[in-house]
Amino acid sequence: MGKLDGRVVLVTGAARGQGEKEARLFRAEGAEVVVADVLDDQGAALAEEIGALYVHLDVGREDDWRSAVRAAQAAYGRLDGLVNNAGILRFNALVDTPLDEFMQVVQVNQVGCFLGVKTVAPVLADGGTIVNTASYTAVTGMAAVGAYAATKHAILGLTRVAALELAPRGIRVNAMCPGAVDTAMSNPSLLDPDADPEETSKALDGLYRKLVPLGRVGRPEEVARLALFLTSEDSSYITGQPFVIDGGWLAGVSII
Ligand code: NAD
Repeated sequence: MGKLDGRVVLVTGAARGQGEKEARLFRAEGAEVVVADVLDDQGAALAEEIGALYVHLDVGREDDWRSAVRAAQAAYGRLDGLVNNAGILRFNALVDTPLDEFMQVVQVNQVGCFLGVKTVAPVLADGGTIVNTASYTAVTGMAAVGAYAATKHAILGLTRVAALELAPRGIRVNAMCPGAVDTAMSNPSLLDPDADPEETSKALDGLYRKLVPLGRVGRPEEVARLALFLTSEDSSYITGQPFVIDGGWLAGVSII
């Protein structure tokens, strides 16, 4: 018995990183999975490997959402879950952030999440789930990522409101707030075909050794397990909540 037997779940930004691990884990737990991304080659290859459906979905485009939902329904006849995982990060001090860059981050992270809820919730089966991917920066500040942090704070607001509005149908909506996770977003050298992924991960762990109580960055598989918990019956009485998964980073600072 898998934890997601009989369920159909759409994961955005699933071609790589945390979304890929979520797609793999959900499939292994019995779900039919819709892998959605703008990285068509990678997404289609993953879908073929795990026996899922790939759809091209730019989360900032409402038309793309409508086609993705139609494709999911045509393939599987229903939708039980959504993981709003797609996201982008840009580094800049607020005073140096061009408006275009700010709006680009809003369009993907915040509008993308809003459109996901707006388009998918009406067709989601009663008792379904939505998991929004926020961030450690949804619950605290971090210099040089102002646009990103603003959108991630907004995602928590959307999560709480969606939880209230969808509760009458038994649809639960929660958010994940990961700290630093070893994917291309925090570790761009993972995209360098000449770099050794083990070495780059070790180097990243070294950077965070002092910052994070558990002494390392998170692994995308660990976030995928939280997404599974929030998508499965194991979290049946939980809705409207942010879940921090950060190795203790937010717990405070140590002076010894
Ligand atoms: P990643 O960059 O490896 O993956 C992001 C995925 O989103 C990619 O597959 C990318 O193609 C996709 N994507 C980007 N723009 C898109 C769009 N417009 N439409 C559809 N897909 C799009 O990084 P990741 O760490 O796997 O990121 C997953 C989520 O986790 C993001 O929301 C990110 O903000 C969040 N997050 C990451 C970290 C971290 O340290 N890696 C920490 C906290 C939160």
